[in-house]
Amino acid sequence: MGSFAPANNTYIDIDYLKTLPREQLNSGYSELLKIALIDSKPLWTELLTFEYNDIVNKPDIIAEAVRLKDAIVQQDLYEENIRKKLNFGHTIGHAIESYSIMHGKNPLLHGDAVAIGMICETWISNKVCGLSDALTAEIIDKVVVSSGKYKLNVDKAELLRMMRNDKKNSGSRINFTLLADVGDARIDQTFSEELIFEALNYYFYL
Ligand SMILES: [Zn+2]
Repeated sequence: MGSFAPANNTYIDIDYLKTLPREQLNSGYSELLKIALIDSKPLWTELLTFEYNDIVNKPDIIAEAVRLKDAIVQQDLYEENIRKKLNFGHTIGHAIESYSIMHGKNPLLHGDAVAIGMICETWISNKVCGLSDALTAEIIDKVVVSSGKYKLNVDKAELLRMMRNDKKNSGSRINFTLLADVGDARIDQTFSEELIFEALNYYFYL
């Protein structure tokens, strides 16, 4: 509701998680992949060792993801600097989510849109931020296997307008959080809009 306060405690009910339908579990899992990608190579390496649906049997991993996110938020409550790392996948992801709510009969869940955003933004990270070819392939492969592949019928110009209107931007520049490495996110990255189109095309033909 627009007010900011750090949480005293975070409770995760594993039994409840086990009752969730596959698509909801999937959607939440995207955020777990994201926190590993931006902040923890050890967590990412661990996530590569099992399938996404096994996460309900890994409470320690969920707790670790919560701790990592909490540590970032505690350091930057008002999103002035390092909290922007959490926006990885969300610049393109939010626009796709909004677009699908406005245009689709079955709108994408948040995490599904973020998964698409992470794939596109990983591809861009490889082009502008020095993310290696091997890691780019590893990340995209893991996200696709975990989240599936969606038909992306979007008006790219409208999508770009939505990105420009995002609260994350300063002025007319679209700000991205990109990866230089797993666990090494770079905030406030800008580049040509042409590259955003190319990333969407990459996803389309994936
Ligand atoms: Zn999110």
